[in-house]
Amino acid sequence: MIDVNRQGEVWVFAEQHDGKLEETSIELMSKARHLADTLKVRLAALLPGDEVRHLSTELIHYGADKVYLAEHPLLRTYQTNSYAKVILGLIGKHKPQIVLYGATAAGRDLAPRVASAAKAGLTADCTDLQIGTHKTAKDGEVHENLLFQIRPAFGGNIVATIINYDRWPQMATVREGVMPMPEPNPNHHGVIVTEAVSLAQDDLPIEILQEHKRAKKVDLKAARIIVAGGAGVGSKENFKLIWDLANCLGAAPAATRPAVDLGFIDHDHQVGQTGTTVRPSLYIAVGISGAIQHQAGMAQSQKIVAINNDPEAPILGIAHYKIVGDLNEVVPKMIRAIKEK
Ligand code: FAD
Repeated sequence: MIDVNRQGEVWVFAEQHDGKLEETSIELMSKARHLADTLKVRLAALLPGDEVRHLSTELIHYGADKVYLAEHPLLRTYQTNSYAKVILGLIGKHKPQIVLYGATAAGRDLAPRVASAAKAGLTADCTDLQIGTHKTAKDGEVHENLLFQIRPAFGGNIVATIINYDRWPQMATVREGVMPMPEPNPNHHGVIVTEAVSLAQDDLPIEILQEHKRAKKVDLKAARIIVAGGAGVGSKENFKLIWDLANCLGAAPAATRPAVDLGFIDHDHQVGQTGTTVRPSLYIAVGISGAIQHQAGMAQSQKIVAINNDPEAPILGIAHYKIVGDLNEVVPKMIRAIKEK
C-alpha cells in the first residue's frame, strides 16, 4: 500500500488526446476545486502525454494550483501500462489524498489499474462528490474529511453514497457531463512541476504502428437542442419522425436504450446511465417513459418537453411542457407548424 497523506492534494487526471483536453477532465476541475477548497488543500492536475506542456496553462486557468507535467514520447497515445506506471510513481511520490478521473474509456480503464496497484479504493461512475464526516457503526470512530462518492446503484433504483475511510488515496471516476463546465479564469495562477519520466518500450505490451480513429456520429453533449425517441416510436421506419423533427429544429437526434437495442438508431445517440449525459437548453422526449436510468442522462436539461400517450408516464413528472397524446399525430403537427413559421 502507498504511504498516506491525509492532508495531501486533490488530483485530477487531465486526460488529453492529440494535445486536446478531454471535456470531462475540464468539467471535473470545477468540482475538484470545490473539494480542495473545502479541505483547504491544493488542487493539482496530473498531465501525462507527449508535447502537452501547452495544456498546463489551460488547466491552471480552469483552477489548478499545480500541474504535474509528465512528458515522454511513449505517452503520446493512451496505453494502460505506461499511464498506470507513471501515475502510480507520482502518487507514491506526492501522496495525494484524492485522485479523480473522468469515466471515459481511458479513465475507466486506467483508474481500476491504478487503484488496484496502489491498494486504494475506487468508486466508478460517480454523479456527484462531496466532503463529509462518517461515524463507523462498528466502533463509533469518527472519520472527517472523507470523499463522499455518490452514484446510482442497484440498477439505478437508489442513489448510493459510498465512502472509503481506510484505503487511500480515495479515488473515483466521474461520469461525463454531470459536472458543469467551468469558465476559464486567466487570472488564476499556478505552478507547473516538470516530472522526470522513465519509460522503455518494454513497459508497453503493445507497439502502436498506425492509429485509426472512429469519430462519434453525433456530439450530443454539445447539442443545444435534442429530440429523443423511445421504444414508443415503434420502429426504425417510424424513427424518421424523430430525425425530421430534429432536422427542422437544428437539433441532435437521440434515443433511449431500448430504441438503440431495437436498432432504431446507433448507440452513439443513447442518452442515460449507460449512454451520454446531456444538459441541453431543450430536450424533447418522444415516446419515452422516463425510467430512472434515462433520467440519469437528461434530467438536468434546462427545458424538457415530453410527448407521451400515457398520462402516468414518469417523464411527464419532470417535464416543463407535457403533451399527452399519440406521437404519430403530435410530431407531424409540430413539424408542420415549425416549417410554416
Ligand atoms: P418504455 O419504457 O417502453 O416506454 C415507452 C413509452 O412510450 C411509454 O411511456 C409509452 O406510454 C410511450 N408510448 C408508446 N406508444 C406511444 C405513442 N404512440 N405515442 C406517445 N407515446 C407512446 N435506458 C436508457 O434510456 N438509457 C440508458 O442509458 C439506460 N441504461 C440502463 C442501465 C441499466 C443498468 C438498466 C437496468 C437499464 C437501463 N436503461 C437505460 C433502460 C431503462 O431502465 C428503461 O428500460 C428505458 O429507459 C425505457 O425506454 P423507453 O422509455 O424507450 O421505453
